Amino acid sequence: TSGLLNGKNILVMGVANDRSIAWAIAQSLAAQGARLAFTYESERVEERVRKLAGNIPDSLILPCNVTVDEDLVRLADTLKGEFGVLHGVVHSIAFARTEELEGMFVDTSRDGYALAQDISAFSLVAVSKHMYPLMTEGGSIMTMTYLGAERVMRNYNVMGVAKAALEASVRYLAADLGQHGIRVNGISAGPIRTLAAKGIKDFNSILHQVEEKAPLRKTTETAEVGDTAMFLMSHLSRGITGEIIHVDGGYNIVGA
Ligand code: NAD
Repeated sequence: TSGLLNGKNILVMGVANDRSIAWAIAQSLAAQGARLAFTYESERVEERVRKLAGNIPDSLILPCNVTVDEDLVRLADTLKGEFGVLHGVVHSIAFARTEELEGMFVDTSRDGYALAQDISAFSLVAVSKHMYPLMTEGGSIMTMTYLGAERVMRNYNVMGVAKAALEASVRYLAADLGQHGIRVNGISAGPIRTLAAKGIKDFNSILHQVEEKAPLRKTTETAEVGDTAMFLMSHLSRGITGEIIHVDGGYNIVGA
Protein backbone atom coordinates (compact mmCIF):
# COMPACT_ATOMS: atom_id res chain seq x y z
CA THR A 1 0.00 0.00 0.00
CA SER A 2 1.04 3.59 -0.51
CA GLY A 3 0.03 4.35 3.09
CA LEU A 4 -1.82 7.64 2.61
CA LEU A 5 -3.27 7.18 6.10
CA ASN A 6 -0.23 5.88 7.95
CA GLY A 7 -0.29 7.05 11.56
CA LYS A 8 -3.95 8.13 11.38
CA ASN A 9 -6.46 6.97 13.99
CA ILE A 10 -9.99 6.82 12.59
CA LEU A 11 -13.34 6.05 14.22
CA VAL A 12 -15.75 4.07 12.01
CA MET A 13 -19.40 4.11 13.14
CA GLY A 14 -22.11 2.12 11.37
CA VAL A 15 -20.85 -1.35 10.50
CA ALA A 16 -23.71 -3.85 10.88
CA ASN A 17 -22.59 -6.54 8.43
CA ASP A 18 -20.31 -7.10 5.44
CA ARG A 19 -22.69 -5.20 3.15
CA SER A 20 -22.56 -2.04 5.26
CA ILE A 21 -21.12 1.00 3.49
CA ALA A 22 -19.07 1.59 6.65
CA TRP A 23 -17.42 -1.80 6.16
CA ALA A 24 -16.29 -0.92 2.63
CA ILE A 25 -15.02 2.41 3.96
CA ALA A 26 -13.10 0.61 6.71
CA GLN A 27 -11.40 -1.61 4.15
CA SER A 28 -10.32 1.37 2.03
CA LEU A 29 -8.99 3.14 5.13
CA ALA A 30 -7.15 0.07 6.44
CA ALA A 31 -5.57 -0.49 3.01
CA GLN A 32 -3.93 2.93 3.35
CA GLY A 33 -2.54 2.18 6.79
CA ALA A 34 -5.12 3.77 9.12
CA ARG A 35 -5.66 2.38 12.60
CA LEU A 36 -9.40 1.89 13.15
CA ALA A 37 -11.87 1.87 16.01
CA PHE A 38 -15.26 0.37 15.19
CA THR A 39 -18.46 1.00 17.09
CA TYR A 40 -21.54 -1.19 17.10
CA GLU A 41 -25.07 -0.10 17.89
CA SER A 42 -26.14 -2.95 20.16
CA GLU A 43 -25.41 -6.48 21.28
CA ARG A 44 -27.59 -7.62 18.38
CA VAL A 45 -24.80 -6.77 15.92
CA GLU A 46 -21.78 -7.00 18.24
CA GLU A 47 -20.77 -10.53 17.24
CA ARG A 48 -20.89 -9.77 13.50
CA VAL A 49 -18.86 -6.58 13.93
CA ARG A 50 -16.28 -8.40 16.06
CA LYS A 51 -15.90 -11.10 13.43
CA LEU A 52 -15.43 -8.58 10.61
CA ALA A 53 -13.16 -6.20 12.50
CA GLY A 54 -11.08 -9.19 13.57
CA ASN A 55 -9.77 -9.21 9.98
CA ILE A 56 -8.30 -5.75 10.45
CA PRO A 57 -5.16 -5.87 12.57
CA ASP A 58 -4.85 -3.69 15.65
CA SER A 59 -8.45 -2.42 15.52
CA LEU A 60 -10.65 -1.56 18.49
CA ILE A 61 -14.30 -2.59 18.82
CA LEU A 62 -16.48 -0.51 21.13
CA PRO A 63 -20.20 -0.13 21.88
CA CYS A 64 -22.04 3.09 21.01
CA ASN A 65 -25.72 3.73 20.53
CA VAL A 66 -25.78 7.31 19.20
CA THR A 67 -29.08 8.10 20.94
CA VAL A 68 -27.41 7.61 24.33
CA ASP A 69 -25.21 10.51 25.51
CA GLU A 70 -23.40 8.38 28.12
CA ASP A 71 -22.31 6.02 25.32
CA LEU A 72 -20.70 8.95 23.49
CA VAL A 73 -18.96 10.17 26.65
CA ARG A 74 -17.62 6.68 27.35
CA LEU A 75 -16.51 6.27 23.72
CA ALA A 76 -14.56 9.54 23.79
CA ASP A 77 -12.91 8.52 27.09
CA THR A 78 -11.87 5.12 25.75
CA LEU A 79 -10.53 6.57 22.50
CA LYS A 80 -8.55 9.16 24.40
CA GLY A 81 -6.92 6.39 26.41
CA GLU A 82 -6.29 4.06 23.47
CA PHE A 83 -5.48 6.49 20.65
CA GLY A 84 -4.58 9.72 22.42
CA VAL A 85 -5.21 11.69 19.23
CA LEU A 86 -8.06 11.06 16.80
CA HIS A 87 -7.71 12.07 13.13
CA GLY A 88 -10.94 11.00 11.54
CA VAL A 89 -14.58 10.07 12.10
CA VAL A 90 -16.77 8.10 9.70
CA HIS A 91 -20.47 8.48 10.50
CA SER A 92 -22.50 5.95 8.51
CA ILE A 93 -25.68 5.71 10.56
CA ALA A 94 -29.36 6.23 9.83
CA PHE A 95 -32.72 4.90 10.92
CA ALA A 96 -36.41 5.43 10.24
CA ARG A 97 -39.36 3.15 10.90
CA THR A 98 -40.31 0.99 7.93
CA GLU A 99 -43.90 2.22 8.05
CA GLU A 100 -42.65 5.79 7.52
CA LEU A 101 -40.75 4.73 4.38
CA GLU A 102 -43.78 4.14 2.20
CA GLY A 103 -47.00 5.88 1.31
CA MET A 104 -47.36 9.61 1.80
CA PHE A 105 -44.87 11.85 3.61
CA VAL A 106 -47.79 13.89 4.89
CA ASP A 107 -48.73 10.93 7.10
CA THR A 108 -45.41 10.95 8.99
CA SER A 109 -45.99 10.70 12.75
CA ARG A 110 -44.51 13.15 15.26
CA ASP A 111 -42.42 10.51 17.00
CA GLY A 112 -41.38 8.84 13.73
CA TYR A 113 -40.15 12.20 12.48
CA ALA A 114 -38.25 12.87 15.72
CA LEU A 115 -36.71 9.40 15.75
CA ALA A 116 -35.43 9.69 12.17
CA GLN A 117 -33.96 13.12 12.93
CA ASP A 118 -32.35 11.98 16.18
CA ILE A 119 -30.57 8.89 14.80
CA SER A 120 -29.93 10.09 11.25
CA ALA A 121 -29.09 13.80 11.63
CA PHE A 122 -28.59 14.95 15.22
CA SER A 123 -26.24 12.03 15.86
CA LEU A 124 -23.64 13.64 13.57
CA VAL A 125 -23.76 16.77 15.73
CA ALA A 126 -23.51 14.77 18.97
CA VAL A 127 -20.68 12.60 17.67
CA SER A 128 -18.78 15.66 16.43
CA LYS A 129 -19.23 17.44 19.75
CA HIS A 130 -17.74 14.53 21.68
CA MET A 131 -14.97 13.66 19.23
CA TYR A 132 -13.55 16.97 18.03
CA PRO A 133 -11.72 17.65 21.33
CA LEU A 134 -9.67 14.50 20.58
CA MET A 135 -8.78 15.80 17.10
CA THR A 136 -5.96 18.00 18.34
CA GLU A 137 -3.91 17.64 15.15
CA GLY A 138 -6.86 18.58 12.91
CA GLY A 139 -8.75 15.96 10.97
CA SER A 140 -11.72 14.91 8.93
CA ILE A 141 -15.31 14.02 9.81
CA MET A 142 -17.60 12.51 7.19
CA THR A 143 -21.15 11.25 6.93
CA MET A 144 -23.33 9.38 4.43
CA THR A 145 -26.28 10.98 2.70
CA TYR A 146 -28.62 10.43 -0.25
CA LEU A 147 -30.19 12.36 -3.13
CA GLY A 148 -33.53 12.20 -1.26
CA ALA A 149 -32.21 15.18 0.73
CA GLU A 150 -32.27 17.38 -2.39
CA ARG A 151 -35.14 15.93 -4.40
CA VAL A 152 -38.35 14.10 -3.68
CA MET A 153 -37.58 10.39 -4.09
CA ARG A 154 -40.57 8.07 -3.86
CA ASN A 155 -40.95 6.37 -0.44
CA TYR A 156 -37.83 8.03 1.01
CA ASN A 157 -40.13 10.47 2.83
CA VAL A 158 -39.09 11.20 6.43
CA MET A 159 -35.55 10.02 5.72
CA GLY A 160 -35.22 12.62 2.94
CA VAL A 161 -36.05 15.33 5.44
CA ALA A 162 -33.57 13.87 7.94
CA LYS A 163 -30.87 13.77 5.25
CA ALA A 164 -31.59 17.43 4.39
CA ALA A 165 -30.99 18.27 8.07
CA LEU A 166 -27.87 16.11 8.01
CA GLU A 167 -26.46 17.95 4.98
CA ALA A 168 -27.18 21.35 6.55
CA SER A 169 -25.50 20.08 9.73
CA VAL A 170 -22.40 19.21 7.68
CA ARG A 171 -22.16 22.86 6.62
CA TYR A 172 -22.71 24.31 10.10
CA LEU A 173 -20.25 21.87 11.67
CA ALA A 174 -17.69 22.66 8.96
CA ALA A 175 -18.04 26.36 9.77
CA ASP A 176 -17.57 25.70 13.50
CA LEU A 177 -14.70 23.25 13.35
CA GLY A 178 -12.64 24.69 10.49
CA GLN A 179 -10.76 26.89 12.96
CA HIS A 180 -9.44 23.70 14.55
CA GLY A 181 -8.26 22.32 11.24
CA ILE A 182 -11.16 19.87 11.20
CA ARG A 183 -13.04 19.34 7.94
CA VAL A 184 -16.62 18.04 7.73
CA ASN A 185 -18.07 16.56 4.54
CA GLY A 186 -20.70 14.16 3.26
CA ILE A 187 -20.83 11.53 0.55
CA SER A 188 -24.14 11.27 -1.30
CA ALA A 189 -24.13 7.67 -2.51
CA GLY A 190 -26.29 6.12 -5.18
CA PRO A 191 -28.63 3.36 -3.98
CA ILE A 192 -26.85 0.23 -2.69
CA ARG A 193 -28.49 -2.97 -1.45
CA THR A 194 -27.70 -2.96 2.29
CA LEU A 195 -29.60 -3.72 5.49
CA ALA A 196 -30.78 -0.10 5.72
CA ALA A 197 -31.99 -0.18 2.10
CA LYS A 198 -34.21 -3.18 2.91
CA GLY A 199 -36.54 -0.77 4.66
CA ILE A 200 -37.20 1.19 1.47
CA LYS A 201 -40.13 0.03 -0.64
CA ASP A 202 -39.55 -0.80 -4.34
CA PHE A 203 -35.79 -0.66 -3.92
CA ASN A 204 -35.29 -2.90 -6.98
CA SER A 205 -36.98 -0.45 -9.32
CA ILE A 206 -34.78 2.33 -7.92
CA LEU A 207 -31.68 0.27 -8.78
CA HIS A 208 -32.99 -0.38 -12.31
CA GLN A 209 -33.58 3.32 -12.89
CA VAL A 210 -29.98 4.05 -11.97
CA GLU A 211 -28.70 1.37 -14.36
CA GLU A 212 -30.75 2.93 -17.13
CA LYS A 213 -30.25 6.62 -16.48
CA ALA A 214 -26.97 7.21 -14.68
CA PRO A 215 -24.20 8.44 -17.02
CA LEU A 216 -22.03 5.48 -15.94
CA ARG A 217 -24.98 3.06 -16.60
CA LYS A 218 -24.39 1.05 -13.44
CA THR A 219 -25.32 1.09 -9.79
CA THR A 220 -22.95 2.34 -7.11
CA GLU A 221 -20.59 -0.13 -5.45
CA THR A 222 -19.65 0.21 -1.80
CA ALA A 223 -15.94 0.11 -2.73
CA GLU A 224 -16.43 3.30 -4.79
CA VAL A 225 -17.82 5.01 -1.71
CA GLY A 226 -15.00 3.52 0.37
CA ASP A 227 -12.32 5.01 -1.84
CA THR A 228 -13.95 8.46 -1.83
CA ALA A 229 -14.16 8.26 1.96
CA MET A 230 -10.46 7.39 2.02
CA PHE A 231 -9.80 10.53 -0.05
CA LEU A 232 -11.85 12.61 2.40
CA MET A 233 -9.90 11.20 5.36
CA SER A 234 -6.57 11.89 3.65
CA HIS A 235 -4.34 14.91 3.10
CA LEU A 236 -5.38 14.81 -0.59
CA SER A 237 -8.72 16.47 0.29
CA ARG A 238 -7.22 19.09 2.64
CA GLY A 239 -8.90 22.01 0.80
CA ILE A 240 -12.42 20.54 0.96
CA THR A 241 -14.91 21.16 3.76
CA GLY A 242 -18.67 21.61 4.12
CA GLU A 243 -19.10 19.73 0.85
CA ILE A 244 -21.44 16.96 -0.30
CA ILE A 245 -19.74 14.75 -2.90
CA HIS A 246 -21.99 12.59 -5.07
CA VAL A 247 -20.70 9.06 -5.60
CA ASP A 248 -23.58 7.88 -7.72
CA GLY A 249 -22.34 7.25 -11.26
CA GLY A 250 -23.54 10.77 -12.08
CA TYR A 251 -27.24 9.96 -11.54
CA ASN A 252 -27.94 13.28 -9.81
CA ILE A 253 -27.08 15.39 -12.88
CA VAL A 254 -29.64 13.77 -15.15
CA GLY A 255 -32.94 15.51 -15.93
CA ALA A 256 -36.16 13.93 -17.12
P1 NAD B 1 -26.48 -0.44 7.22
O1 NAD B 1 -27.77 -0.93 7.74
O2 NAD B 1 -25.43 -1.44 6.97
O3 NAD B 1 -25.89 0.70 8.16
C1 NAD B 1 -26.71 1.50 8.99
C2 NAD B 1 -26.05 1.50 10.35
O4 NAD B 1 -26.70 2.39 11.25
C3 NAD B 1 -26.05 0.11 11.00
O5 NAD B 1 -24.73 -0.27 11.28
C4 NAD B 1 -26.83 0.34 12.28
O6 NAD B 1 -26.32 -0.45 13.35
C5 NAD B 1 -26.54 1.81 12.51
N1 NAD B 1 -27.44 2.42 13.49
C6 NAD B 1 -28.79 2.55 13.41
N2 NAD B 1 -29.25 3.10 14.55
C7 NAD B 1 -28.18 3.33 15.36
C8 NAD B 1 -28.01 3.86 16.66
N3 NAD B 1 -29.06 4.28 17.40
N4 NAD B 1 -26.76 3.93 17.17
C9 NAD B 1 -25.69 3.51 16.46
N5 NAD B 1 -25.78 3.00 15.22
C10 NAD B 1 -27.02 2.91 14.68
O7 NAD B 1 -26.86 0.33 5.86
P2 NAD B 1 -25.98 1.33 4.95
O8 NAD B 1 -26.71 1.40 3.68
O9 NAD B 1 -24.57 0.94 4.97
O10 NAD B 1 -26.18 2.73 5.67
C11 NAD B 1 -25.11 3.55 6.09
C12 NAD B 1 -25.40 5.01 5.76
O11 NAD B 1 -25.39 5.20 4.35
C13 NAD B 1 -26.75 5.50 6.25
O12 NAD B 1 -26.60 6.84 6.69
C14 NAD B 1 -27.58 5.48 4.98
O13 NAD B 1 -28.66 6.37 5.03
C15 NAD B 1 -26.53 5.94 4.00
N6 NAD B 1 -26.85 5.72 2.59
C16 NAD B 1 -27.22 4.48 2.15
C17 NAD B 1 -27.52 4.29 0.82
C18 NAD B 1 -27.99 2.96 0.31
O14 NAD B 1 -28.59 2.88 -0.76
N7 NAD B 1 -27.70 1.87 1.01
C19 NAD B 1 -27.44 5.37 -0.11
C20 NAD B 1 -27.02 6.62 0.38
C21 NAD B 1 -26.75 6.78 1.73
